[in-house]
Amino acid sequence: MNNNPNFFSNKITHWFNANARNLPWRNTINPYRIWISEVILQQTRVAQGLDYYNRFIQRFPDVISLAEADENEVLKYWQGLGYYSRARNLHAAAQQIKTQHNGIFPTDYEQVLALRGVGEYTAAAICSFAYNLPYAVLDGNVYRVLSRVFGIETPINAPKAKKEFSDLAQMLLDTENPSEHNQAIMEFGALQCVPVSPNCSVCPFVEQCVAFSDGMVQKLPVKLKKNSVKERFFNYFFVQQGDYTYLKKREAKDIWKNLYEFPLIETTEKIDIGDLIGKDVFKTMFGDTKLQIDGQPFVVKHVLTHRVIHAAFYMVKTTENVDLTAHFLKIPTSDLHSYPVSRLIELFLEKYFS
Ligand code: SF4
Repeated sequence: MNNNPNFFSNKITHWFNANARNLPWRNTINPYRIWISEVILQQTRVAQGLDYYNRFIQRFPDVISLAEADENEVLKYWQGLGYYSRARNLHAAAQQIKTQHNGIFPTDYEQVLALRGVGEYTAAAICSFAYNLPYAVLDGNVYRVLSRVFGIETPINAPKAKKEFSDLAQMLLDTENPSEHNQAIMEFGALQCVPVSPNCSVCPFVEQCVAFSDGMVQKLPVKLKKNSVKERFFNYFFVQQGDYTYLKKREAKDIWKNLYEFPLIETTEKIDIGDLIGKDVFKTMFGDTKLQIDGQPFVVKHVLTHRVIHAAFYMVKTTENVDLTAHFLKIPTSDLHSYPVSRLIELFLEKYFS
């Protein structure tokens, strides 16, 4: 391995200048826009994130417009991206900037890090890209590149990994030009040193890369196995009462907090409509209401990172004199599209209305 720490930065920025994609958040040093792009891209591919970014920035062009928006509208603009706590945190942090920093995005790393939902990676990205401050970024791409080039076998999700990798990333950082260096290493991981089958023959590190010389490319980075995926069973009731239907806002500390959904009964296993109707929770929700339920639900299996949701959507008809507003929000069915909903509900609605 080359002992000159500059060899890494020189090579990677050289590669970046020849290969970088032209993305809108690369052409700005506006910290607000960089922040939005980083949060969108945390769990989202660039191709999908680009559309969301453009729409989000068009509607909320600055901190104040985001801070003053209604949370429902922010969630609506986020709909389909998943991990909705990101949108709620963006909204809360914009309000934090408005009240604590007079609406001006903080320029100090510690103050950026103190914003709601901003972790070390995002703070380093904002501070280096917007202000050229010397903080090395460490995300999944950077872990992969460093573990391969330097042959590091520490599992990247082991407790000690963060310090080991961030010390190395910081040591390699070109402190004269941290913005370009950080963008380069992330782009290199995204385009060249990709997770599966990177084309090492055209890589500028092919002569130094330990993973390549030791035949470890497919084995690095090492990752410890996570806990098994949890299964959940959601039984939804799409009530049709003339031109109206019913929704409820998810308010518990759980997935999809503050998004809307149809009346729901969650069960610990798959259950048929006869057993559902017999449950106390069903009686609490619907009382003695006369309902006409189609016993054949519309079934959707929705896979998230740590859970699989088995959803059954039951079509329910009821007469106009029935009032379910004690538990639910009554809305015109034609207004469904204006409520922020999970990707699962969106999938159902797409199928249903098509
Ligand atoms: S040689 Fe292959 S594994 Fe090593 S850094 Fe380049 S692309 Fe990644």
